[in-house]
Amino acid sequence: MAKVTFNEDRCKGCGLCVGACPKKIVTMATDRINAKGFHPATVIEMDKCIGCAFCATMCPDVVIEVER
Ligand code: SF4
Ligand code: SF4
Repeated sequence: MAKVTFNEDRCKGCGLCVGACPKKIVTMATDRINAKGFHPATVIEMDKCIGCAFCATMCPDVVIEVER
């Protein structure tokens, strides 16, 4: 199973990764705020991740790392 990790404090909340995910499992974590004052991106239902890394490729701030 692929594993996606976010360097949450670097996230600027732009949401580009949310739209890039073909499995629709990337979302903004509305329950917390990062060091920059944004809701950071996160993955729900990690078991559905196919490890395509589209999210990581899309992120302009290199927040996301995908291991598979
Ligand atoms: S690696 Fe692909 S499937 Fe997994 S969260 Fe990122 S975009 Fe979605
Ligand atoms: S693309 Fe990067 S900076 Fe933008 S919301 Fe996603 S993780 Fe955050």
